[in-house]
Amino acid sequence: MRGPRRDGPCPPAGLGARDLVAAFAPMRLLLLSSLLLLPLGLAGAGQPGGTPNGVTLRVGAGRADITPSVEVRNWVSGKPYAVVHDPLLVQALVLDDGSTKAVLLRWDLTDISESLRDEVRARVGRALGIPGGQILLNASHTHSAPWAPVYAGGQRGRERDTWWAIRYMPAQNDYPPYRAWMERLLAAAEEASRAAVAAAVPAQPWIGRVGIQEYLYNRRPRAPAWGVAGKPPAAIGYTQEGWDAHVLQGGASFGPVDRTLALVAFRAAGGKTVATAFHAACHSVSIYPFQPGISADWPAPAAAALSAAFGGESLFFQGCSGDITPWLRGAAAVQEMAAGLARKSAAAAKFAVPLETLPLRFGQVSVDLPLQPAAKARTGTDTVAAEVQVIVCGPLAFVTLPGEPLTDLGVAIRERSPFPQTLVLGYSNGNGVHYVGMPGEKARGGYEMGVAGAGTDECGALLVEAAVRLLRKVYDESGYPRP
Ligand SMILES: [Zn+2]
Repeated sequence: MRGPRRDGPCPPAGLGARDLVAAFAPMRLLLLSSLLLLPLGLAGAGQPGGTPNGVTLRVGAGRADITPSVEVRNWVSGKPYAVVHDPLLVQALVLDDGSTKAVLLRWDLTDISESLRDEVRARVGRALGIPGGQILLNASHTHSAPWAPVYAGGQRGRERDTWWAIRYMPAQNDYPPYRAWMERLLAAAEEASRAAVAAAVPAQPWIGRVGIQEYLYNRRPRAPAWGVAGKPPAAIGYTQEGWDAHVLQGGASFGPVDRTLALVAFRAAGGKTVATAFHAACHSVSIYPFQPGISADWPAPAAAALSAAFGGESLFFQGCSGDITPWLRGAAAVQEMAAGLARKSAAAAKFAVPLETLPLRFGQVSVDLPLQPAAKARTGTDTVAAEVQVIVCGPLAFVTLPGEPLTDLGVAIRERSPFPQTLVLGYSNGNGVHYVGMPGEKARGGYEMGVAGAGTDECGALLVEAAVRLLRKVYDESGYPRP
């Protein structure tokens, strides 16, 4: 039985039938001059360890429950969640090079607000004695969890609670069950981080990759601008009988998909897996249209299946998936995807290679992203500050973008990164301008490029350029041996 569903910020697969072919829009890179470079927090050189020029990396993982009370209201219906389908977690991955630490926190949340980022960095930074710039927050983008709270306004002009969080209901900040949950998120971040530090043991990252394209669907197919003679059959969406994500309708062409699942297994001497980070770009929306309860969606059973296969804690990091959804929806699809990803991950692990462990390095930059007229009017500001963060350990780089970047952005950054093992994370360290695509996407139209994408057509290029520059800067200043 299908539950109530409404078009949220992430609506059902866009059919794109009325989309226009993108007019070429030149990148106005002059706006790059608005980049404000923040000071880079560079870690110390670390102690020489087991490999030449390297360090002995200590790795630990921890978790804490962040499931809200069922009294908290579902942002889609405005009604209490009422049931917990499966619990929500925050998981921490701590990397310690002997001199300093990086903390990567992944959350079963719809987003990371700039406000949550600041509060968590202050809390965890204080607890572990590290700067906030060494703490990363990534949301899985499950739709069956609340949007991240806003603890303090001022990040986005007069828009305290982002419009998409209060689209169907009033803000919950003064509602006691929600207030309690807001406090719980901060305590849980500290709890998971401390547990990860306590669990840390010497370990080496091993990386493998595998294609998972059969589970992915780009919901922005390219509609033909001309040349279709006659009226095509009525288009259907994923909630309708006969829907098949692998079949295009109306003479459309496929939108891009990044087929990559990257598996980073941290293994102790002797081969025991301490923790596994896995990264892919796919909306966590299998559950939400069909049942109204709280759920972490497909990443939770996928992580459980990986842990069952490898041992240790498994942590999913969401990539740039603004236009990518699962090929199927519903509870059965979640289980099928979890089993499939675990099977594929096992194959990737078989051919994984160990990576050099060099001292941790960090970078941050803030980009002023220009807003569209409607968003300017809503927020009272012309730009929104968007953070890009880099955390690297030798060839392995995590680089973050805020909001919902279309999948092209992740591929563009990875291809230009000086770090051969670069994982590009979306939904991280803030909302930025929410949906963001490369120049030309605005002309193509669709939900993501309308009211849900608050920035101008240049914003995607601004983020890509900022990320590539920052990666190069961190690399240039790393002191790492050059090939
Ligand atoms: Zn979304």
